[in-house]
Amino acid sequence: MSTMSFSIPRLTYYGAGALEQLATLDGKRAAIVTGGSSMKRFGFLDQAAELLKKAGIESIVIDGVEPNPSVDTVIRGGKEMAAFQPDWIVAIGGGSALDAAKVMWCFYEYPELKFEEIIEPGSMPPLRNKARFIAIPSTSGTASEITAFSVITDTKNHIKYPIVAADMVPDIAILDPAIPATMPPHITANTGMDVMAHAVEAIASTAATAFTDPYAIQAIKMVIDNLPTAYAQGDNMEARLAMHEASALAGMAFTNASLGLVHSMAHKIGGEFGVTHGLANAILMPYVIAYNRKFTNKYAYAEKLLGVKDLGQTVLELNKKLGIPASFVTCDEVDFSEKKFLAVLDRMSQHAFEDPCTLTNPGKPTAADVKELFEQAYYGKALH
Ligand code: NDP
Ligand code: MN
Repeated sequence: MSTMSFSIPRLTYYGAGALEQLATLDGKRAAIVTGGSSMKRFGFLDQAAELLKKAGIESIVIDGVEPNPSVDTVIRGGKEMAAFQPDWIVAIGGGSALDAAKVMWCFYEYPELKFEEIIEPGSMPPLRNKARFIAIPSTSGTASEITAFSVITDTKNHIKYPIVAADMVPDIAILDPAIPATMPPHITANTGMDVMAHAVEAIASTAATAFTDPYAIQAIKMVIDNLPTAYAQGDNMEARLAMHEASALAGMAFTNASLGLVHSMAHKIGGEFGVTHGLANAILMPYVIAYNRKFTNKYAYAEKLLGVKDLGQTVLELNKKLGIPASFVTCDEVDFSEKKFLAVLDRMSQHAFEDPCTLTNPGKPTAADVKELFEQAYYGKALH
């Protein structure tokens, strides 16, 4: 037996109008961090600045965070913060904007720090000397608003670094369903299946506990019940709120229980082919569930509580409703040519095997097992 810990944001506001809580903050200056143009275009950026003004808080906007944010972007943001000296950082946008804002925060607090010095998990010095952090997600997917994780890319060397630091768990998360409601259907589908993957992997993780299981089970239930509606009727606010909540709940589970092979493999096939993270997860999940089943009774446990026969089958049926194919060879988001697949397969399998998420996958998968799973998911091995 050993001592464990469970950490989540101190405060989560959720429900219609939750964004308005910005008007109740105590502070002087806020740096609003966002992605490309979506938050500006749909009026949420102006709304946030206006609400902060009501609270007597002056704000600046740090924008232009790209999908898969780079080291350069987070260093630039840290400098812009240092020039303005905010006491709040308000990150609003997709996982990319939230992730970037977390590491900008670190460079604002420690301007002399180098990116290399925060790569080792647990090496980030204590935050909250200068500012606190609010996360307002605009996708229902990564759960960066809940987690201790941030993914930053070294664009020169094409390496994605997962930065892990308990201090990066935001102080406040705001889940307002009006914000993800502007997502187009394909982003709703892909990010929604990322939620499913977080919950399914947190359940089966070797680090799952009685503290993490309930969040994961509830998240799976809400995804099954609401993702097809959020996808087909984007303006259904009940389904949008349920998916936003499910994302955060899954985040509470996986930030504490970690993940497994679906994510290990999605990270690497994403790196090789550029396929969207949630889409890769969605395609991989049924194969990994089928493989893992012999090492864990946790799927059976979840299936009993959820009243479903086979979680893998449930994922396949969801994918079908969302227009997500059952294999990579039939996926046309990017070019999945067999020639390239065969050329990268060994390297990709070895890298996925070495991914930190593999450590908490049930059983002891080998690099050869990972390769076989890639082959099954690429060619679409019949599962039933
Ligand atoms: P992104 O933040 O990358 O956003 C994807 C696209 O969706 C962007 O073009 C963005 O536009 C657009 N968009 C976002 N919200 C809306 C909206 N409400 N309406 C219309 N368009 C919208 O996507 P994700 O949230 O999936 O985040 C992916 C990132 O998160 C990756 O960098 C990944 O590595 C990382 N990640 C982080 C994890 C963590 O634990 N922290 C876990 C897993 C992945 P625009 O830029 O204009 O706003
Ligand atoms: Mn994910």
